[in-house]
Formats: sequence, C-alpha cells, structure tokens
Amino acid sequence: MKKIELLKMPHIDGYQLNRNSMFKNSKKLIHGITRRGFLKNVLSATAGLTVIPTSLVNSTPRSTSNHEVNKKPNTKMLIEPSKEIPVYDEVDVVVCGGGPAGVAAAISAARNGAKTILLEYEYCLGGMSTSGLMNHMGPMHDQQKIILGGIPWEIFQRLVSMNAAIQAIPCPPTDNENYWTAFDPEAMKFVLDNMVEEAGVKVLFHSYCVGILPKNKKRNGLIIETKSGRMAILAKVIIDSTGDGDIAVAAGASFKIGREEDGLTQPFSLLYQVVNTDTDKAIKFISQNWEKLKQDAAVNGEKIPSHIGQSFLSPDYGTFSIREEQLFFNINHVSGLNGTKVEDLSQAVIDARKQILQSLRFYKKFIPGFEKSFLAATAPLLGVRESRRITGDYTLNIEDVLKGNKFGDAISRYACFIDIHPVIPGEKQKTFVGIGKMTPGVSYDIPFRCLLPANVDNLLIAGRCFSSTHEAQASARMMPSCMAMGQAAGTAAALAASQNLSPRNLNIKTLQDILRKDGAMI
Ligand SMILES: Cc1cc2nc3c(=O)[nH]c(=O)nc-3n(C[C@H](O)[C@H](O)[C@H](O)COP(=O)(O)OP(=O)(O)OC[C@H]3O[C@@H](n4cnc5c(N)ncnc54)[C@H](O)[C@@H]3O)c2cc1C
Repeated sequence: MKKIELLKMPHIDGYQLNRNSMFKNSKKLIHGITRRGFLKNVLSATAGLTVIPTSLVNSTPRSTSNHEVNKKPNTKMLIEPSKEIPVYDEVDVVVCGGGPAGVAAAISAARNGAKTILLEYEYCLGGMSTSGLMNHMGPMHDQQKIILGGIPWEIFQRLVSMNAAIQAIPCPPTDNENYWTAFDPEAMKFVLDNMVEEAGVKVLFHSYCVGILPKNKKRNGLIIETKSGRMAILAKVIIDSTGDGDIAVAAGASFKIGREEDGLTQPFSLLYQVVNTDTDKAIKFISQNWEKLKQDAAVNGEKIPSHIGQSFLSPDYGTFSIREEQLFFNINHVSGLNGTKVEDLSQAVIDARKQILQSLRFYKKFIPGFEKSFLAATAPLLGVRESRRITGDYTLNIEDVLKGNKFGDAISRYACFIDIHPVIPGEKQKTFVGIGKMTPGVSYDIPFRCLLPANVDNLLIAGRCFSSTHEAQASARMMPSCMAMGQAAGTAAALAASQNLSPRNLNIKTLQDILRKDGAMI
C-alpha cells in the first residue's frame, strides 16, 4: 500500500422491445421503428482549510471548495486528521461522473489507447439519460442536416438498431415531436454498459469523487468514497463530468452559478414514468374538453396543478415516449434552489414528489384514459438543469450560440435553441429564449478552451458544467452536445497522457484530426 499525504481537500444485443408495443398510430416508419403520431389530436467536505494541489494549478487559483461554498456563517469546523488511504489503481485517465459526457469521455479515452477508469455514484451509466429518466435527446441536427457524428451518433444508432429509439431527422424546432428524439432509458443502460466494456474502460459504480491529491510522481490523485471505503486513484489526466464541476472546484477552479443579475438557476425537475395509460383517449379528451375539465375541477373544489395545461400530454410539454401506454413526464418545476447544496437538493426532491402525487391524483380523477394507469417510477436522479459553470480559458456566450460563431479550436458543434425554463415561477421569458431564434442550417462551435478550467492543469471539464454563460449553457447542455464534449475531452486526455503533456499544451490540429477520424463533425 502506498503512503500518500492527504492534503486538506474541499472537500444487446439480445435486448428487444416488443414490436407490438410500438405505436399503432404511427405515420412514419424509420429504421424499423415507427414514429408516433403523438400530436395528431393535440399539439407538447471536510477541514476548514483549502489547499490547492500545486500540480493541477498553473497560476493563482481562486479558492472555491465545496464546503466553502456551502458553509453557513459561524459553522463549527473540525480538522480531519490525515490518514493513509489505499491507491486503488494508477491509470492514464480517470473520468468522474458517468453521464452522457462522462461515458463518451471514457469510451473515447480508452479507444485512443488510454488506460481509463470511469467513476459513477449511481448503479448505471447515463446520468440524466437513465437515472434521470430524461428520455429524449436534444437535436442532433441544425434543422437541415445532421451535425453530430462520432460517439453521440453511435450511441443513438445502437438504440435505434434495438428499436429502442426513434431515428433523429433534421426538422424545425416547432416540430416538437421530431426535434427531440425519444428513446428508452432502460435500453440506454445496456448500450452504455456494452460500449464501455467493448472499449476496455474499467467502471466503478457507487463511487463518489470527493477530492484531489497532489501529484504523486507523474500522476494526480483523485479521492473517492466507495462501499469499500475511501481510496485514491492516480491518473495523468482527470476529466470532471460530474455535471456540477465537483472535482474542478476541488482542484481550485473558479465557477459561476445562475444568471448574471441574481445568481438564480433554471428550475429542477424530478421526472417520472406513468404506465398503462390509454394515451390517445386522454389526449383526445383534453383537446376536446379542456374547458369542461376546468369546470369539473372547480366544482369539485380542486385546482388544476399549475404545470398541467391543455397540451401537457404532448412533446410541447416534454411528455415523450416510444411506447403508447408509457409516458415520461418532464413537467414539474422546483425553483429558487442551488444544485450544489445538500439541503436544497433534499428539499427539491420532496417538493417534486409532492407535485407528482398531486398530478397523479388529478389525472386519475379528471382525465379519462388514466383509469388503469399507475406510477411506474420516479427518477433516482433529480433533474438539475444547471448548477456550477466552471470558468474556462474561454466562456461560450449567447452571441456565439445565436450567430453560430466558429472557432479555430472547435471540438464539437451544436444548434439547439436556448432552452431556459422560467427561473422564477410565472416570470416572463426573455426575448432570446425560444424556438425561433436559431437560423436553420447554422450551428455554433464549442472551442476546446471551454473544456479547460482556467488556472488548472491536467484536468478537463465536459458536459453541463463546461465554461459558458447561463444562456449559452441553456443550449449546449443537451445530452448529444454533452456527449460530443465528452468525446473531445476523452480524446484530448488520452493524447495528453500519451505525450505526458497537460491538455492545455496539446497541438489542437492533432486533436481535431483524431476527432474527425473518429466521426466528429467539426
Ligand atoms: C429536467 C431536465 C430536462 C432535460 N431535458 C433534456 C432534453 O429534453 N434533451 C436533452 O438532450 N437534454 C435535456 N436535458 C439536459 C441533459 O439531460 C443534461 O444537461 C445532460 O444530461 C448533462 O450531461 P452530463 O454528463 O454533463 O451530466 P449528468 O447527466 O448530470 O451526469 C452526471 C453524472 O455524474 C454523476 N456524478 C455527479 N457527481 C458525482 C461525483 N462527485 N462522483 C461520482 N459521480 C458523480 C451523476 O450520478 C451522473 O450520473 C435536461 C436536463 C434536465 C435536468
């Protein structure tokens, strides 16, 4: 066992869907799966000191540990004694968080020759796409052509080949049913397990990345908490794809949370799945009887839950599925809380579950089609649309998104509209929010510098915590885009590890050439 001085740290094949369960009412047949005519009737830690490990820092860092951010005034603090912890492994690349960004990062790092470990605290890969029950991909196109290749496209095509996803096609954002492409989150688990296994990635579930150790020989140390206890992993390059930038912050990276004006973030949502619904009947009823439904509710002394509207069973509201009798709801909102505070997160899931219960009672009581339905699942992972945005060498902004700006160090491109849910309930949306603002055929680049936390070396960020403004993040946060960033981060990490360089010092053209060879459309 190696002795490490612990610094004070801030802390499928074979899988087949029943074809008969696919939509009976579909109008289009794509890749063997029918696309649903869903809208035919209706429209959608630790000690008080922060010591930044010097190997990760290349100039003066801002000290921003988790506990400092979350500490209340006059919080009593304890000094945790240093202790020996076992080194679990020494690798080239360690990826923290196995969501869309982290999985793609680990696969690309391993495919590019790096010995890679992927750490995830849930018991499956996929993050929001599995544990979060977020079952529809953001656009993989610019309304005119497909713009994402490489790992995001491969993941999606594996789902399609299992009849577990609807094929992505270019279309305008007003065509909600096609703009977002639905898939089966359970099938996603199998696809991702297969892909990481095929690539040779070592996966550790139930592993919580909690801190950084100083460089030991040529490797940086990552501290994880697991069922087997506290351990360290030594890696040449660390990728933070935790969504919240937990490890970048532990390494001393600066970050921002929320809007410039008030620091408030987009609301959280806890997704849930209802099965055994006669969806067509329910949609028809609501579309024809909305006024009557409101009256019935009033007569019964009941208020229609605020998130239920005339189109709540449609993709306009984020209610998608690849199966007729199964609905995934992305409609509740919990606002005004901070996605990096344990108390806020705990309160949020309790509040969201209350909203869900209220909705379920309402569906059953007032909407024909729901008589035999039941709640199949609430997501194990709370849907946090945004929390920390790590400050990188470049910060993607709203102009970049809306103008489709191009960069010499592009590592991916994207084109979703700026999708900001009301930050304060009832607040009027800002004018740039909305589906009409993206020019068809235009996409924007994501520069490599957005994955490089300023002042921190040997660490990359990928996914929703990448360096961006509140508005730009609201476009690039979509899962396919996070996967594309992940692929770039993994490729860069493998290249940097093989050359014993910090990712910041890589030859960008070499990185881009490898990404293009691996299918990225840059
Ligand atoms: C309610 C909601 C609706 C959305 N709708 C859509 C949509 O329709 N289409 C779309 O494409 N995108 C949508 N998004 C956006 C998208 O789901 C996320 O932005 C995307 O999943 C982010 O990917 P990620 O890999 O960065 O993070 P995540 O998906 O959050 O994954 C992070 C992973 O890291 C793990 N993790 C976190 N911290 C640690 C740690 N310290 N140690 C170990 N593991 C850790 C988590 O368990 C998780 O598995 C939505 C998001 C939300 C919240």
